[in-house]
Amino acid sequence: PHMQINTLIIGAGAAGLMCAAHSGPKTMVVDHAKAAGEKIRISGGGKCNFTNMYAEPQNFLSANPHFCKSALSRYTQWDFIEMVAAAGIPYHEKTLGQLFCDTSAKDIIKLLKTEARGADIRLNTSVEHIAKAENGFDVALMHEGKLTSVSTANLVVATGGKSIPKMGATDFGYRIARQFDIDVLPTRAGLVPLTFGQDIMEALKPMAGVSLNARVSCNGAAFEEGLLITHRGLSGPSILQASSYWHEKDSLFLHLEPALDIVQALKDQRQQAGRMAVHTALGAHLPSKLANYIIEIAGLSGNLADQSDNDLAQLEAVLTELEMRPTGSEGYRTAEVTLGGVNTDALNSKTMESRTVPGLYFIGEVVDVTGWLGGYNFQWAWSSGWAAGTAIAG
Ligand code: FAD
Repeated sequence: PHMQINTLIIGAGAAGLMCAAHSGPKTMVVDHAKAAGEKIRISGGGKCNFTNMYAEPQNFLSANPHFCKSALSRYTQWDFIEMVAAAGIPYHEKTLGQLFCDTSAKDIIKLLKTEARGADIRLNTSVEHIAKAENGFDVALMHEGKLTSVSTANLVVATGGKSIPKMGATDFGYRIARQFDIDVLPTRAGLVPLTFGQDIMEALKPMAGVSLNARVSCNGAAFEEGLLITHRGLSGPSILQASSYWHEKDSLFLHLEPALDIVQALKDQRQQAGRMAVHTALGAHLPSKLANYIIEIAGLSGNLADQSDNDLAQLEAVLTELEMRPTGSEGYRTAEVTLGGVNTDALNSKTMESRTVPGLYFIGEVVDVTGWLGGYNFQWAWSSGWAAGTAIAG
């Protein structure tokens, strides 16, 4: 069979569904997965952190930090929140402006499917071939062994990043870009736990499960949130955030429990309880296994009364500027996003359309725009999907 349509969207994820809700008549969405919005379903621990009240361009990483501004300002978090509220979906702020569903991420999938109800959504469908035609594209689709050829004026690539391959993530979007000579910047895993060499792992392993607050700095960015020691390395929101700024050989600098003035507290205690062991005293402020490790790095021993001001200054340096050099990350298997991707220089920031191939659009995570942890990546999917959809609908 042969079909003539106006818009073919590849990928029924967050960006693809949002685009389909706005792209007007004769829109078809294809996805090789058996369900639409699978990443939405598992996101935010099943509750989908669907946006962030404080979303701004500075919360996004991109080779061109200006590119995301137009779409984010024309379709904002407040526009999406209004749609969620109008649908009667209960939600709440968890922390730092992060909005989650009260009940289930499925509420968001249902909302998007309702908004995109005018589109023909075809699941279990793969794209076999794409060719440029005179007024658009000829695409061959395969569903249950049957081929369908589609002629479309507009082709929207919404295939997402490489993260979590077992959920259907592929590099197909990057391959489509290359087919049309559109530049793709190197990709790497972002919002991902970091791993360390054997020495540090030996030291960390007994502390697996320990969590605390930390300010983690890397390459000029700093995030003050939870930190978790695992049997594979470091995780928790502060580490995931910093991981997006980390490149091989970079160090992280950790300020442990930044809201506490631990060393001042120890100085006060030195007066009143000088016979207390220094690791016991520090253990009142940090998980005790971590306290012992810190004491060892700072080279201290004995009682509080044995510590000179110099010793405590040394301890302070370790607590506020602990340098750790990861050797790698857990990779796409557990990464929440993919950094890099379709070079924004190749796209129109208002419409997401290719500058060189009219009718070809790239939206969502496949583009070199990556948000922080906290609902920012979905906001990019909504804003870029809306920008392309409304441009197509004219
Ligand atoms: P996706 O939503 O990944 O959709 C891409 C679609 O394309 C998929 O349906 C896929 O099956 C399809 N596809 C891929 N290749 C092909 C192909 N070759 N042929 C046909 N179809 C194809 N972000 C937040 O903002 N808040 C959160 O709470 C949050 N939680 C997350 C939790 C996890 C575990 C993960 C992995 C990510 C999370 N993210 C979160 C990030 C967020 O899910 C993504 O940034 C977002 O889904 C990107 O939207 P997208 O539409 O570009 O891609």
